[in-house]
Amino acid sequence: MSDKVAIVGAGHAGVAAAAVLKAAGLAVDLFTAEDTLPYFRPRLIAVAFGQAEPDAIAIKPASFYADGINLIHRTVTSPDELKDYAGVILTQGSVPFVPPFEGDRARLHTLWNVQDAMRIRAEIRPGARLTVIGGGVLGLESALRAAMAGLKVTVIESFALVGGVLGPACSKVLEKTLEAKGITLRVGACVAKIEANGIRLGDGTLVEDDLLLCSTGARGVTALGEALGAKADCGLLTNPDLSFAPMRYAAGDLARPTEARPVCAVRRATAMGTLAAQNLLAEREGRPTTPWTDPALPLFMKVEDTEFHTFGCCRGDSLDERRIDDGSKDGVIQTILYSANHPVGLRFVGTRDGFGAWEKQILA
Ligand SMILES: Cc1cc2nc3c(=O)[nH]c(=O)nc-3n(C[C@H](O)[C@H](O)[C@H](O)COP(=O)(O)OP(=O)(O)OC[C@H]3O[C@@H](n4cnc5c(N)ncnc54)[C@H](O)[C@@H]3O)c2cc1C
Repeated sequence: MSDKVAIVGAGHAGVAAAAVLKAAGLAVDLFTAEDTLPYFRPRLIAVAFGQAEPDAIAIKPASFYADGINLIHRTVTSPDELKDYAGVILTQGSVPFVPPFEGDRARLHTLWNVQDAMRIRAEIRPGARLTVIGGGVLGLESALRAAMAGLKVTVIESFALVGGVLGPACSKVLEKTLEAKGITLRVGACVAKIEANGIRLGDGTLVEDDLLLCSTGARGVTALGEALGAKADCGLLTNPDLSFAPMRYAAGDLARPTEARPVCAVRRATAMGTLAAQNLLAEREGRPTTPWTDPALPLFMKVEDTEFHTFGCCRGDSLDERRIDDGSKDGVIQTILYSANHPVGLRFVGTRDGFGAWEKQILA
């Protein structure tokens, strides 16, 4: 057996893990299913709508891989390909989840990698009608960037924008801001069927489009991990230290450490990749490993002057929501959520002023 470590998946978690192992002097094979240098995935939306170039979004320059990290452009499909490695870290991320819509599903675009982004980019033109299914962070950023590119955009969201995390008052302000950008919102509408020329809604109306983007969440890529013996349930279940077998670790979007909720976020993936590699080194040297703790992450979106920021506990009917701005600025609302008179959550729309100080107060 070689002394090499294999990292499967070169996204944010994989690159972070590779950096730790490289610094420790270990040889690394970093496998990527993509043709490009590993890149900053959130910038794909800007790439899709012509506001960033694919070759300008790399996480690290080519020189980072030249010494100590063997970047291999190949999809790992079976555990056999990994059997000779001293250690393995799985960081294959997630893939878009598309609900089982009826109708012409071949028309649906998803946006998860550079190829997806370039396919969309090839079809956009000013005045074209884009429908985005899903009013989460990625759906709304796509809608805004498409509107900036001159498309006429409709967002269909069956529940509430951003999964309801903004609550009714803040959602209303965000909705007005989005509508002022020319975006049509169909909140509470559900997709009955994908027709050749649009979306048939549950109430029978047809929302016509030239381009259709589905932004309805993602699921961790778990098949290889399961073939290696890990259990999967909405992600690969790992031990608290991110291991699932001796010298076998998982990190990033696909990993679900005991008790934790899977979340797709760059900061989480990067921190997990780092910890998985540190723990692999610790195990190799007979030192104790460190358990993963979920970081408290804000949920936010900022596209030019359109922004919202949330943090902490923003769900639950028993929370007391108090507005702290004076209501004098159009498109701005700042509310604090209290539980038993203690601040537990933040909802800011149209500004981030003061957000950091409140965040600290909640964490204290
Ligand atoms: C359009 C978009 C916008 C986003 N915006 C934000 C944002 O603003 N903020 C934020 O925090 N998060 C955002 N996210 C989520 C964030 O990008 C992910 O949480 C993050 O990329 C997860 O990192 P990861 O390393 O786990 O996986 P990924 O970055 O998905 O990387 C996994 C890599 O593994 C490769 N792979 C899979 N299987 C194999 C295999 N068998 N062999 C070899 N390679 C394989 C994949 O092709 C992929 O390149 C966004 C995601 C998308 C798609």
